[in-house]
Amino acid sequence: MSAPPALVIATRNPKKAREMQTLLVPPWEPDPVLARLEVLSLDHLKPVPEVVEDGDSFAANARKKAAQTAQHLGRWVVADDSGLAVDALAGAPGVYSARYAGTHGDDAANNRKLLEALAEVPDEQRGAAFVCALAVADPDGSIVAEVEAQCRGRITRELRGTGGFGYDPLFLIPEYHKTFGELSPLVKNQISHRARAFARLRPIVRRLVAEGRLG
Ligand code: IMP
Repeated sequence: MSAPPALVIATRNPKKAREMQTLLVPPWEPDPVLARLEVLSLDHLKPVPEVVEDGDSFAANARKKAAQTAQHLGRWVVADDSGLAVDALAGAPGVYSARYAGTHGDDAANNRKLLEALAEVPDEQRGAAFVCALAVADPDGSIVAEVEAQCRGRITRELRGTGGFGYDPLFLIPEYHKTFGELSPLVKNQISHRARAFARLRPIVRRLVAEGRLG
């Protein structure tokens, strides 16, 4: 019997791995083809060397992460790169989102720095977008699929809400009058940049499963 189709999610962050798994095979959208897919996270596999995210775009980083991880493991891999692009800051923090204030992953410091950078910026110029790029690589490290999506919002003047992570408490979705930090994960998983990118990727992964290429 041939191995079940499998795809490795290239993140060490368990929260993100869970979110990506949900978005790859969403329980609210049952699909018999995607249901056959075994989604693996890095914790279950041999150690993978850290990939240096030094690309000048989200897409370049996602491609690099997918290709290097796939080559190392000899498996199909999906990788993402994401971040916040603020209009009034000419797209910053962009690919530096995780380390905007200096220390990688210091969300509190990053949020403080963003509020300071926008202190003089009026409400109508506080537009921003969360961006998510996804790349799928085959076991040789060749990029087989790439997608990108955005979610537009506005940067608030103070932290609002305790949900989510990163810049979520500062990212207002005007239609909901709530930040990502205030919205439920259910809603965020429908409208976020990552949700939209996965909605684009799903039919591609579905086709790869149906064609037997991920087996
Ligand atoms: P990475 O894609 O794991 O490199 O994440 C980049 C950084 O972008 C994170 O550390 C966050 O600061 C920010 N970011 C990406 N996606 C989100 C999100 O959904 N909410 C809040 N911050 C995010």
